[in-house]
Amino acid sequence: MSTIASESESFLKTKLKEVFGYNQFRGNQEPVIKAVLEGRNVFVIMPTGAGKSLCYQLPAVIKDGTAIVISPLIALMKNQVDSLNMLGINAQFLNSTLSKTEINKVKKDTVDGKVKLLYVAPESLTKDENITFLKDANISFFAIDEAHCISEWGHDFRPEYRRIRSIIDRIGNLPIIALTATATPKVQLDIQKNLYLEESQLFISSFNRKNLFYEVRQKSKIKDSEGTAKTAKQEAKNKAKSKDVDKQLIEFIKQHKGKSGIVYCLSRKKVEEIADYLNVNDIKALPYHAGLDAPVRVNNQDAFLNEDVEVIVATIAFGMGIDKPDVRFVIHYDAPKSIEGYYQETGRAGRDGLEGHCLMFYTYSDITKLEKFNKDKPVTERDNAKHLLQEMAAYSESSVCRRLQLLHYFGEAFDAHDCSNMCDNCRRSTAKFEGKKFIEIMLTAFDETEEKFETSHIINVIRGVESDFVRSYEHSNLSVFGKGEQQSEAFWQSVIRQAMLKGFLDKDIDKTDVLKLTDLGNKFLDSPVSVELQEDRDFETENNEAKEEEAINSRSYDEVLFDLLKKLRKTLAKQKGLPPYVIFQDPSLEEMATTYPTTEPELAQVNGVGMGKIKKFGKPFLEKIKTYVKENEITTASNVVVKQTANKSKVKIFIIQQIDLRVDLEEIAEAKNLSMEELISEIEHITDSGTKLNLDYYMDRIMEPDRQEELYNYFMEAETDNIKAALEEFENEFSEEDVRLMRIKFMSEYAM
Ligand code: ADP
Ligand code: ZN
Repeated sequence: MSTIASESESFLKTKLKEVFGYNQFRGNQEPVIKAVLEGRNVFVIMPTGAGKSLCYQLPAVIKDGTAIVISPLIALMKNQVDSLNMLGINAQFLNSTLSKTEINKVKKDTVDGKVKLLYVAPESLTKDENITFLKDANISFFAIDEAHCISEWGHDFRPEYRRIRSIIDRIGNLPIIALTATATPKVQLDIQKNLYLEESQLFISSFNRKNLFYEVRQKSKIKDSEGTAKTAKQEAKNKAKSKDVDKQLIEFIKQHKGKSGIVYCLSRKKVEEIADYLNVNDIKALPYHAGLDAPVRVNNQDAFLNEDVEVIVATIAFGMGIDKPDVRFVIHYDAPKSIEGYYQETGRAGRDGLEGHCLMFYTYSDITKLEKFNKDKPVTERDNAKHLLQEMAAYSESSVCRRLQLLHYFGEAFDAHDCSNMCDNCRRSTAKFEGKKFIEIMLTAFDETEEKFETSHIINVIRGVESDFVRSYEHSNLSVFGKGEQQSEAFWQSVIRQAMLKGFLDKDIDKTDVLKLTDLGNKFLDSPVSVELQEDRDFETENNEAKEEEAINSRSYDEVLFDLLKKLRKTLAKQKGLPPYVIFQDPSLEEMATTYPTTEPELAQVNGVGMGKIKKFGKPFLEKIKTYVKENEITTASNVVVKQTANKSKVKIFIIQQIDLRVDLEEIAEAKNLSMEELISEIEHITDSGTKLNLDYYMDRIMEPDRQEELYNYFMEAETDNIKAALEEFENEFSEEDVRLMRIKFMSEYAM
């Protein structure tokens, strides 16, 4: 390596630490930044959360002049500008929310060369007076964020975006960096053409979000009277198998207590309903959808950003402008309309690289419902929408690694081993079978029909179904006709999907539902080889074992200190009117709660903490840590203390869930190999640490109502909750078990 290169490398790293407090570049950030500094045009495709902003923010700080950032969302702009100002960078924005005086001030500061980054909404950019002003400014480069808005094929088309290039040309010959988080090959090409970026340097990052856990659960509704089951027995069986989705929702969120999450629903009505339902269950939640008045929406969004509520229940309208890095879970209460949408929405979880659980509740009837919504659309649009929905259904029902499927969708090769069990399908093993024969039949069917027909027709041919289509094309004469009549339609669909994932078939670029054999597919037909296929998931017979697997992280940091620091952050944020993560992000707080820095230089070692932030906020944090360290006699920073908490909580979570499900205590004890006495101790621990449990169902089983009342009244009046005292009072009329259980019930009702 030449000296200049290594010098500039260390220069960039130093700047990164100094300004943003980060120790390392992520993914393509460094080469992108270098290219921008060299004045090149670049096109960056990076998934949400990968750190696109830094790609233009750091060069903007380093370069002379002002970088113009074109960004479609005003909410997002304000967030970013706030964050940058916190770092001590002069960033401002220009959009319709500003008054005339404010606009003039921004313009003056820019022309005076004070502003490093100026965020501009595309509709402001197109105004003549602004073009004149920008001509006077010393501009370092243009950054076009959310560049997919340029493309009509994208899911978020903004007409003004198509004029950006011509306006930039009017302002001057300046370098452009375009960035987007989503670009199927078609959209990508469209963006490049429109911005004349065909010759630009292209940086495509992997779409793999390693820290996200993907899971799909069966969505079942248990109705008390009008269930579809034919007999009471059958209904009871169904109940035992599948838990009501609403109940699962509560359980899941309670397991993630104190963490931020988003629940997506399809309709406004459902959003309102679920938000109410969560609140009734002691989960602070607010709704967000396009039907709410703008001030209400802004208010609810801010409450979420500021952590006044834990959960936002929203239609897909929510999220584009959300820059909250510590969203810990994204739940799809209803199936999304496309995999692209699903990927975008789940992408809002864990942007800081820490835990992000993506849970979707799925039932095919949701897909059917969505299809009905499309029925009034023009034919091609309807077909397209239907196709997207079928892909969504296929994803949900498949037992193949979720990550592999998602990445395949974005044209990226992936080996399921690299998923590291970060999806439900990798955690659970489904039956596998030898697929050579089936792949052969299926590929032959494509071949013999000359790769011109939709898959539904191909499946008819394979299964020997005499449809009108089959008759009119005389496909019953094909050698493959009826070769697969033993298997169901769903089976063949699954074979086709898996063949796509394995690269035997590929989509026709022009027609959505027509598949073609790839080279690999043709090779297979010439000489078939062994192929392992997986059975699809059978939601009907599946039970919810996976629940227990639920990521209950064993934490390695000091949780008490972490909570203290989080509280401090919240207080400071309130004072300054900022979202808490603008001050320090969770990973930084976790690190502080691991290394216990007590001096400024020590604090500066923490990832995400730069000198700017130390000057602004360092003091109260250092004070807090110092006091904590002193009170708890902790040896600090130099010899790093790492606290290990064993995974004891797993059993407790299991017990809570089972009691919620009204499982008899004997059964719970047996399942976990505990004696009754041990189980009761565990339950006491749970309630003593503040979790309410409702044991009524069990109490009713083991004790007559009047006896219950007697004990209950005793605790009501007694001066102590001491068990011995109670036993003595009743002269051993009750067993110790009875008394302890009643105490738990009593404490659950009164002490919390
Ligand atoms: P994107 O715009 O690609 O969705 P952001 O630019 O908002 O992503 O960055 C996502 C998160 O990652 C932010 O919280 C940001 O502070 C953080 N981040 C970005 N770059 C780095 C880095 N090099 N080291 C640590 N954290 C980073
Ligand atoms: Zn997987």
